[in-house]
Amino acid sequence: MEKKKIVVLGAGYAGLRVVKGLQKKNLAAEITLINKNDYHYESTYLHEVAAGTNSATKITFDLKSVVQNTVHFIQDTVTKIEKENKTVVLQSGKKVAYDYLVVALGFESESFNIPGVEENSFSLVDIPTAEAAQKHLRQKLANYTLSHDENDLRIAVCGAGFTSIEYLGELTNLLPKLAKEIHFPLEKVKITCIEAADKLLPMFPENLSEYAIDILKKRGVTFLVGTPIKEIKQGTVLYQQGEDRKEISANTIIWTTGVKGSCVIENSGFESRRGRVMVNADLTVPENPEIFIIGDVSAVMDKTTNRPYPTTAQIALKQADTVVPNLVAKLNNQPTKEFSYESAGTVCSIGDNEAIAEVAGKHFKGYIASVMKKGVADKSLLQVGTPSVLLKKGRFDFYH
Ligand code: FAD
Ligand code: NAD
Repeated sequence: MEKKKIVVLGAGYAGLRVVKGLQKKNLAAEITLINKNDYHYESTYLHEVAAGTNSATKITFDLKSVVQNTVHFIQDTVTKIEKENKTVVLQSGKKVAYDYLVVALGFESESFNIPGVEENSFSLVDIPTAEAAQKHLRQKLANYTLSHDENDLRIAVCGAGFTSIEYLGELTNLLPKLAKEIHFPLEKVKITCIEAADKLLPMFPENLSEYAIDILKKRGVTFLVGTPIKEIKQGTVLYQQGEDRKEISANTIIWTTGVKGSCVIENSGFESRRGRVMVNADLTVPENPEIFIIGDVSAVMDKTTNRPYPTTAQIALKQADTVVPNLVAKLNNQPTKEFSYESAGTVCSIGDNEAIAEVAGKHFKGYIASVMKKGVADKSLLQVGTPSVLLKKGRFDFYH
């Protein structure tokens, strides 16, 4: 009998965890992994690369170190899934047939169709974008001694969600050191964070969000709240404040107002909202029981809040651990199991050795919370990588 074909799209937290799980099962099936790059990157550290406190090499590892040669790896970009004929279309023109498909193509930046975002700001969605943001920032700060243009020292961060706050934490930690290295007047640097909502970090209790925001304010960040951004022009952020349209000039504009699922989802005709498909309890697609959708391209209803779970690496990994036995069940014509998730807590870093955390209803801040954050990240790395990858990354140092 011909072997069934399992194809996994994306080698992020969700996709790579599925491949790792399938490898252990010794299945009578052909497994193919398709990913844009020949490396995995820890997207939870992209803000550090963008700020310049971490390097791309520290947050990436070669897929070869995890993916065994029993798995067929194709380095290519997926452009479309043709559900009708169970085929995946790749940028190279190649087509790959599947019996079972796992879609784990992850997130893209969400511009909400606001004019000028793509052309005039930097998003943090993968290694090239994070490195481009870092290079630009460094160039502008270094250029000040020649240009004497105050805008070279101005940084605007759009949105004040998790990514923005963690980016600001890293950036404000690094700036004093960077000022000495590339010579710019630190006291003249102006960082403004512009947020549409009226409240900052609403997902945390007030004592914790105030703690985090106070730290950033003391390090020189100005927050504008209740000020939705309406347009980005070259070197200018235009926003609404009450009845007035206002603007801020800055030669570095960072766009972190949220994410949406991969454009492949919409291009392939899946019913979705912002690139996320509302999946069945066993993580398959309604109408397509042979397709699993997980990670940031999926939406799973949290029955306790009646809202979809947020898009996080923690959930992506947990979903992968449901998909592996469900694929085995499908191959054996057995019933699949439902995905269930209990949040281990929420942690937000504010640069090195500072963080806030809410875990099992308890509140933590400062160094202890930052250790928790590093512990969670190391656990996630182990779930997709190997102990030797963790060792090579030197991630046992909790003091930095
Ligand atoms: P991804 O990690 O995005 O992986 C998708 C993979 O698919 C990538 O390898 C990509 O190259 C590949 N790919 C994409 N498109 C294509 C294509 N067309 N063809 C082929 N390959 C493709 N979550 C937490 O739980 N904790 C945190 O502390 C945390 N911090 C974060 C910090 C930042 C700065 C950001 C941006 C996010 C953070 N998140 C965090 C959220 C978390 O990173 C995502 O929820 C998680 O990455 C989702 O995993 P995924 O596998 O679905 O997608
Ligand atoms: P987010 O959706 O969490 O935050 C985006 C922020 O931008 C929101 O506060 C929103 O009100 C604001 N915004 C949206 N449109 C705006 C506009 N026009 N003008 C001004 N502000 C605007 O998105 P994110 O921070 O990019 O995070 C993406 C995902 O990754 C989330 O699911 C998040 O939970 C996850 N994440 C988690 C962590 C962590 O657990 N430590 C860290 C980073 C990201």
